[in-house]
Amino acid sequence: MKVPVYVDNHATTPVDPRVLETMLPYFGEKFGNAASRHAFGWEAEAAVDEAREQVARLIHASSPKEIIFTSGATESDNLAIKGVADAYREKGNHIITCVTEHKAVLDCCKTLEQQGLSITYLPVDAHGLLSPDQVRDAITERTILISLMAANNEIGTLHPVIEIGRVAKEKGIIFHSDATQAVGRVPVDVEEMGIDLLSMTAHKMYGPKGVGALYVRSKRPKVRLRPIIDGGGHEWGMRAGTLNVSGIVGFGKACQIAAAEMQEEAKRLIGLRERLKEDIFRHLDEVYLNGHPTLRLPGNLNLSFAFVEGESLLMGLKEIAVSSGSACTSAALEPSHVLRAIGVTENLAHTAIRFGLGRFNTAEEIDFVARRVVEEVRRLRSLSPFYVARAKSQKRPEGEWKVPERLS
Ligand SMILES: *Cc1c(COP(=O)(O)O)cnc(C)c1O
Repeated sequence: MKVPVYVDNHATTPVDPRVLETMLPYFGEKFGNAASRHAFGWEAEAAVDEAREQVARLIHASSPKEIIFTSGATESDNLAIKGVADAYREKGNHIITCVTEHKAVLDCCKTLEQQGLSITYLPVDAHGLLSPDQVRDAITERTILISLMAANNEIGTLHPVIEIGRVAKEKGIIFHSDATQAVGRVPVDVEEMGIDLLSMTAHKMYGPKGVGALYVRSKRPKVRLRPIIDGGGHEWGMRAGTLNVSGIVGFGKACQIAAAEMQEEAKRLIGLRERLKEDIFRHLDEVYLNGHPTLRLPGNLNLSFAFVEGESLLMGLKEIAVSSGSACTSAALEPSHVLRAIGVTENLAHTAIRFGLGRFNTAEEIDFVARRVVEEVRRLRSLSPFYVARAKSQKRPEGEWKVPERLS
């Protein structure tokens, strides 16, 4: 086993060696510009076409032409939300989203709000769930877009996308879903889910960084978008700029692998996640699960360790790569907006750790992670006057870490 052990697969994933192998020729002899009208260009174009089909197939898009390649999910979110706001300006000015969305969505909405649009930020329950009725009740005459994520990047909660899609269809409102964390990890079907716009990115599913896609429905209804990047008319005029051929090829391969292996992989990851959770809960008190017990991403475990600062825990766990609270807000040391939204107190939010288990994690690694987390939480708590006083008053036995039987 190699340290540090990487268990931060919601921040990014390692590139699958099969993906890398598929990409390599496109940095070498197959360097053509996919827009060029000669042998080199045609070769690149054919590779992009194949990748487009692989991406479309994974999310059950009815045509590969509905896939617009972008630089990643942030750009896809921007294109979807700002693109709809602009193209449907005469129809209305109201957007429905949710407080637990990724910053890429929330910040787009904030910008539009400053430009005079009206945004409804739906609240969520203690598990991070919202109900289709909440969405229905928020719709007005002026609503042009519903933007709700499929799976949360911090607590892994899976939204009831099929039911939300039904509400959107029933009311004739465009439904965008940031499915960055869901695609490749759980089944995503834009037809079954009634999704009109879907954001995704390669680097959260064992592909390269800097490439993603926006699915744009072409019929029933045909979604109109105003592009945010103007230029050479690439991607049907929706996203100008020379295509990142090697990245796109890798993204396609990552989608093909995910389609073939997702089911088995999800089962294995749920097993590892439950094993990690049980080991930690068996050996520590005052640990709290953030998010839903079952309606969550297979590899996601988000725990609050009372009496222990998440940042201190990270510092003490150099041989494990995990995130405290949220990767995006930990630089600011603000409690995660997602944890606050599900009602976690500010104190407990600061003690949260997000584990993101992925394709390349082994059982041996996960047992190591459990042991090190328990050791480090115990060490830090032994230094906490609050915890020590509390433990004394409860006469709780200190208990040693015991190697789980299956390992001995
Ligand atoms: C990672 C992530 C993004 C941003 O994706 P990039 O490709 O890094 O821009 C957006 N939304 C969600 C839910 C994410 O997890």
